[in-house]
Amino acid sequence: MQVAMLDLKAQYRTIREEIRQAMDEVCDAQYFILGPKVEAFEKEAAAYCGAAGACGVSSGSDALLMALMAEDVGPGDEVITSPYSFFATVGAIVRLGAVPVFADMDHDSFNIRPDQIAAKITPRTKAIIPVHLFGQCADMDPILELAAKHGICVIEDACQAIGSEYKGRRAGSMGDYGCFSFFPSKNLGGFGDGGLVTVRDAAKLEKLLLLRNHGMKPRYYHHLIGGNFRLDALQAAVLSVKLKYLDGWTAARQANAAEYRSMFAKSPAAAQVVVPAQAEGSTRHVYNQYCIRVPAAKRQAVWDGLKAAGVGCEVYYPVPLHLQPCFASLGFRRGDCPASEAAAETSLALPIYPETTTAQRQHVVDTIAKLFG
Ligand SMILES: *Cc1c(COP(=O)(O)O)cnc(C)c1O
Repeated sequence: MQVAMLDLKAQYRTIREEIRQAMDEVCDAQYFILGPKVEAFEKEAAAYCGAAGACGVSSGSDALLMALMAEDVGPGDEVITSPYSFFATVGAIVRLGAVPVFADMDHDSFNIRPDQIAAKITPRTKAIIPVHLFGQCADMDPILELAAKHGICVIEDACQAIGSEYKGRRAGSMGDYGCFSFFPSKNLGGFGDGGLVTVRDAAKLEKLLLLRNHGMKPRYYHHLIGGNFRLDALQAAVLSVKLKYLDGWTAARQANAAEYRSMFAKSPAAAQVVVPAQAEGSTRHVYNQYCIRVPAAKRQAVWDGLKAAGVGCEVYYPVPLHLQPCFASLGFRRGDCPASEAAAETSLALPIYPETTTAQRQHVVDTIAKLFG
């Protein structure tokens, strides 16, 4: 039996005609840059996220960059974030000349710890970027409290967490900004790159819209130095169709996760496999990834055994951000963020996409059980 880590074709087959019709409309109109499709998607996405407004952009990486630019983050500023995330989270900070400050993650949730953030705040702290990793929200209330107390901006990296909720509030509606990615492997994936920045306060939208298009308004009059961070109309058309199906796909991911949990609980591997935990305040985990933890000494064997049994798996992420070679000059050391360093050696993501079957999951769990047998 084969179990791919992700099979986008399975999803496409179910919505092919509708997607092609939406793309045809853009092709017939030959209106490719911004315009009505992008505006329509922005309205739908803002409503979905419970945000006051949204700006469609070129990628999740650019969404993070733009949110920091909108707050004038630059040299001399510090930005606190998690060392356990995709590189773009910290890349955006360093590209603007600001200093990344890492607050370690919680061992169980993989998300940044508010008490670690509190310990890292200085008069130079300009922003906090909590990451809602794997589709589960970070513990936002204490983070928002700290930010309010110190006058610091909060930028949610919700790239893996569209539709995720914390105490009933949606990802991207709690911080000053929410950053989303429509990279094809995300829960809402485009046909290429795309992203979104949401805002809690509608007054913050205008600057984002300017930054997205070289600070230009009207044409050829430039008020800010932004960039070309635009979302394509074709992507917006695809995303509008897919957004209607997102809750169904999310429900399937959650059901798959619940099934994995009960299968692992009954498996002989139960004592050595840690399944994802419900984090403090998390009321809707959307399972962009299903990351188990296995003993570090056995991870490579589990990986090899899964591959040999036809099962795709992945390590998110093998090197925590503070230990990436490109930051060697910043002086971080092994031991600075022990929980993240441990996660990098023990985490393993299993196939969780909506179209996987019970038989496939049983095969995954049985394969792992045999390796620990
Ligand atoms: C995917 C991702 C990004 C970057 O999104 P792109 O659209 O690929 O640029 C940023 N942060 C996190 C946590 C992500 O998972």
